[in-house]
Amino acid sequence: MSQNIQQILDEAAEGRRLTLDEARLLQREAGLHDLGFAAHRVRLRKHPQPIVTYVVDRNINYSNVCVCACRFCAYFRAPGHEDCFVLSFEAIGEKIAETIALGGTQILMQGGHHPDLPLSWYEDMLAYIKANYDIHVHAFSPPEIVHFAKISGLTTAQVIERLKAAGLDSIPGGGAEILVDNVRSKVSPNKCPSGQWLAVMEEAHAQGLRTTATMMFGHEETPEERLEHLFAVRESQDRTGGFTAFIPWTFQPDNTNIVARPLTSPEYLRMLALARLVLDNVDNVQVSWVTMGPKIAQLALYFGGNDFGSTMIEENVVRAAGVSFRLSQAEIDTLVRAAGFEPRQRRMDYRLVGQA
Ligand code: SF4
Repeated sequence: MSQNIQQILDEAAEGRRLTLDEARLLQREAGLHDLGFAAHRVRLRKHPQPIVTYVVDRNINYSNVCVCACRFCAYFRAPGHEDCFVLSFEAIGEKIAETIALGGTQILMQGGHHPDLPLSWYEDMLAYIKANYDIHVHAFSPPEIVHFAKISGLTTAQVIERLKAAGLDSIPGGGAEILVDNVRSKVSPNKCPSGQWLAVMEEAHAQGLRTTATMMFGHEETPEERLEHLFAVRESQDRTGGFTAFIPWTFQPDNTNIVARPLTSPEYLRMLALARLVLDNVDNVQVSWVTMGPKIAQLALYFGGNDFGSTMIEENVVRAAGVSFRLSQAEIDTLVRAAGFEPRQRRMDYRLVGQA
């Protein structure tokens, strides 16, 4: 390794912010283990306790009807397709009751861009949930919020205000894919552009909602565009501080309209470590057992990850793209312990369950 790269890694591990040029150099030339070691040092500096957290939750997809037709999506159905569904509030309630019975503290709810459901349907759904269950609702995504604004004729700020008043607690970072419009126009041309994704998140933060940020990589983006994504998230976090975590995962090509070689584990680990090094202002980085499997997820805890994500009592979107790893809470505990850490259940805002 060149002295220059070693010095950049050491300084980043100590907390100095990376420039874009330095990130480019690391992306191109740093060794896998050197990147991982520096990322792990950042992780230990931010989280000195040997704890790995996770949330017990369930992904509830309230509908699969969508007019967006993103090329990477194996989940959606166009309006009128025989497999279309919209869950009843009672069916959603049953899934929440099961989640609570399993010790769950939150639900993650997302759907497609349904052309006919009015904003009041989403408000009624949130009100129904809050009237009947004690559960954190982590729901929708910036593209869904933009869609609701279009169908209601309101601004995205007004939509967030209304959904928050109805019971929305936080917003997941879905629909980010790669926050570069050149990529978005190819893989998801009908979804909101990157500036709007970030603006919705920053508006949510201004209204007191915490959110996460994600990145789906390994489809039609270049390595440089992955870095652009990381720097866009970092700049946004500088403005608001509202992101609780960064969640990178690899694109799964089965049943989609994108032909791509699935990324290898080293490619995933390099990207995870680079994210941990660049995002000096984001506290938590999640590993992705859902797409990489449990063993690589364990390894990822030494490449910058400090959080095992979620138990995902139910997950439909990645499964539709051909990957179906399943883990129970007990299995996550065992995997985290075997990797050398203490597993702890947390909430969306990273407070540990059992602590005030
Ligand atoms: S990713 Fe979301 S917005 Fe895109 S087609 Fe699938 S359900 Fe629709």
